[in-house]
Order: sequence, then structure tokens, then C-alpha cells
Amino acid sequence: MTPPMFERERTDVAEACHMLAQGGLVIGTAGNLSARAGDQGIAITPTGAVLAELAPEDVTVVDLQGQLVAGELEPTSELDLHLGVYRRYEAGAVVHTHAPMATALSCILDELPCIHYQMLLLGGPVPVAPYATFGTQELANGVLDVLEGHSAALMANHGAIAHAPDMAGAIERSLLLEWACTVYWRAAAIGSPKVLDEAQRQAVVAAALERGYGTTRPANRDPEEAG
Ligand SMILES: [Zn+2]
Repeated sequence: MTPPMFERERTDVAEACHMLAQGGLVIGTAGNLSARAGDQGIAITPTGAVLAELAPEDVTVVDLQGQLVAGELEPTSELDLHLGVYRRYEAGAVVHTHAPMATALSCILDELPCIHYQMLLLGGPVPVAPYATFGTQELANGVLDVLEGHSAALMANHGAIAHAPDMAGAIERSLLLEWACTVYWRAAAIGSPKVLDEAQRQAVVAAALERGYGTTRPANRDPEEAG
């Protein structure tokens, strides 16, 4: 029987699969997701499953060495990639997709330039990991190396990966990356996209810290202080 402590992570993984399938970021069995339950285990999608229909009980749980802890199904072939991200970056959740725009650009670019300030949430310019056969340690190593200083990366001729402290964050970053790839694609179709330089990026970081960007706050109703 599954220890109750994994219920939340398995449900998180299943629900995240449904959401990404609905958004067109995962299609059929392509892509894999995982969420960490402290030091106890990692809930991860099984290999060969249709992600749009994944149930929490289909989600496999392994320990940090990849040994089966709970579940009936063999984990994704990219298990080493997921384990590597948890070991090296202390992530809480990892999302790997073959999202169409990210995958298209992964076939062309060596790096997705920082063309919009929201990309700073991904670490600025998004690196592209070298191509290697799916499911290999070589692929995992290449991706882990380019993730240094970034929370998302493209994987050459393959797809995209994002990690965050929790599943909601990893989903948000995956959607943001796909959006940024779409913007770049459209801009590049009609011209040469201008890139935010280091000074412009620093100014965004300073402004975001000062104004608490991305968080809601009560409106100021005092006319004395309005301005
Ligand atoms: Zn893949």
C-alpha cells in the first residue's frame, strides 16, 4: 500500500499532466514530470502512459537512487535526468516536455536570447543542451550542465525542461518558456529580435525587488498617499 505521504505528490503529478496536456505542451505519451516528497521519495510519471489520462495511482514513486518505493509501473526512461536535477539543484518538481515551440527552436538555436524581461524568471537567456539519445546518462549530463544558473533549458532536437521548488512553479516556468519561444518565433519571422542587454536585465531585477513584481497587494485607498 502507498504510504499516505505520497498521495499529494502523486496527485500533483497527475493533475499537472492533465493541465499540460490541455495546454498542448504534452501530447500522447511524450514528456515526463516528477515531484519530490522531501527525502522520502520522488513521484514520477511512468514510461509509456498517456499523460492526459494519468491517474494518481499510475504515478510511480522512487527514492533518490531510483529504487522503486511505491506504484506498479516502470518509471519514465528519463529517470536519470530527473534524479540528477534533484541531486544537483535541490528542486521540488521537474517538468520535461516536447512542447511544439520549444522543440522547434531547440532544432535551430544554440541559446534562446533574453528578448523579454519575464524570461529573467527562467534565468535570462535559455541555454540549449547538446543532443544525445533519449534516456541516456549522456543526455542527462548535458542538460544538468547547462541548467547551472538557470531554472529552464531547451534540449537540442528534443524538447524543454524546467524545475522549481514546487509543481505549480515548474508548470508556470514551462508555460513561460513555451510563451517566450512563441514570441521569439514570431519576432524572428519578421525581423531580427532585439535582445535585452546586461544593464537592462539588471534594471529589471532592481525594479522587481523594489515593487514586489508578480505578487498581488491591496490597492492604496488613501487619497493622501495616491500618486
Ligand atoms: Zn523527451
